[in-house]
Amino acid sequence: MPFDPIEADKNDPLSWTRDEFELPLRAESGGHGEGDLIYLCGNSLGLLPKRGRQIVNEELDVWSKRAVYGHFAHPHDRPWKDIDQCVLPGLARLVGAKESEVAHTSTLTSNIHSLFISFYRPTPKRWKIVIEKGAFPSDWYAIHSHPALHSAILSPEQIENAIVPLSPRPGEDHLRTEDIVSKLAEIGDEVAVVWIGCVQYYTGQFFEVEPIARKTHEIGAYFGLDLAHAIGNVPVKLNDWGVDFAAWCTYKYLCGGPGSVAGYYIKDGLDDGGRRLAGWWGHNRQTRFHMSPEFDPIPGAGGYQHSNPPVFSSLPLIATLEIIDKAGGIDVLREKSERLTGYFWDLLTSSKWYRGIASPDRQERHEQQVAQATSSGLPADERSKGFKILTPSDPAQRGCQLSLLVLPQGSGNMDKVFQAMVERGVVGDERRPDVMRLSAVPLYNRFVDAKRAAEELERAFEGL
Ligand SMILES: *Cc1c(COP(=O)(O)O)cnc(C)c1O
Repeated sequence: MPFDPIEADKNDPLSWTRDEFELPLRAESGGHGEGDLIYLCGNSLGLLPKRGRQIVNEELDVWSKRAVYGHFAHPHDRPWKDIDQCVLPGLARLVGAKESEVAHTSTLTSNIHSLFISFYRPTPKRWKIVIEKGAFPSDWYAIHSHPALHSAILSPEQIENAIVPLSPRPGEDHLRTEDIVSKLAEIGDEVAVVWIGCVQYYTGQFFEVEPIARKTHEIGAYFGLDLAHAIGNVPVKLNDWGVDFAAWCTYKYLCGGPGSVAGYYIKDGLDDGGRRLAGWWGHNRQTRFHMSPEFDPIPGAGGYQHSNPPVFSSLPLIATLEIIDKAGGIDVLREKSERLTGYFWDLLTSSKWYRGIASPDRQERHEQQVAQATSSGLPADERSKGFKILTPSDPAQRGCQLSLLVLPQGSGNMDKVFQAMVERGVVGDERRPDVMRLSAVPLYNRFVDAKRAAEELERAFEGL
């Protein structure tokens, strides 16, 4: 019996979560026709939880009726001065940490800067930062700006060469754990910090964090993790993996809304060498409003906060965390996610436009596919038209994002395919010139969405 997506949705114990979200309409999103969009862009901006809207409205009323008292006496038990308390337990569970190790504050890139101020403390003998060559540009820019802050200690040459980029082997799309580990062994005690994205934003690769963290510690460096594409997507175990510090945003898989408040993790007891950027929100909660000139930091991650968090940009997140908890937590969502993305993977890789993947584990399959394409009677000039998948085939090494490289590269085909899909009500995410990211998010996507998206992709290629 072939897999029936309609049946799969019917039998899905998590199908109720979709009803908790407001689904964008086709007609409002550049598409023709009626009905809901197939939204596969949760890796970029998650959908609005219905209860998020409700909470925002409640807060508007509180502001209107109580104004400043809303900070302390709140009719819905969410006093604004402690708004972080509404999300810290849920966030701590999602990242596998203690509540004292997690803070809800500021934005991702700013939090990365704060972490690097405290935990990148170079010496003339240990000053390098290791990062993926293909890291998200904001991480790349942010990290490059730190060595120059230490010009009293580092020579201009050291500052110039402080960043060590990690690249995949020629012809491959993913970093291999063994290559990262051997690179770390090679540079050894010159490394101060290793910073990687837990799930790579471009390829969707979910790194094997633990062995990389272990090697980082063996060479005496700190290990930091960007969770932007991991939190709410895959189970994260910061304590178990031995991660020293981490940061994330909440508008992607956590549906916090555009520009919503971000967060970070600092392992309990991590030594900051007395370097921290302080602010009143990092001060002891009990005495914060005494306005004393003595800074008395909250023990743990909270002590590194600067400002009172934007309350309105914290609210939809409260709703999403409630839904995740009600669903049984991230492990339960992950189980559905693996089935959903596995199904999507199978549909895509059985398309006649599929041209294989570059990772070595599937080289054989790639060759088979190419042979199939050749023998299926496609005209020679169409043979290179199609797509390749950049995301690892191993479900353990990916989350719900699949990244498609549209061929021939540089032909403009990706834009055309993307636009054709949008017009037919399927929205993914473009990375120009040639990459399209499609994420079936278990909170609101269905098996039939994967099916429709694969069909529309096929149709878009036919129309090229
Ligand atoms: C989305 C994302 C960002 C965005 O940074 P902001 O500070 O939230 O604007 C940064 N890094 C990574 C890896 C991301 O995926």
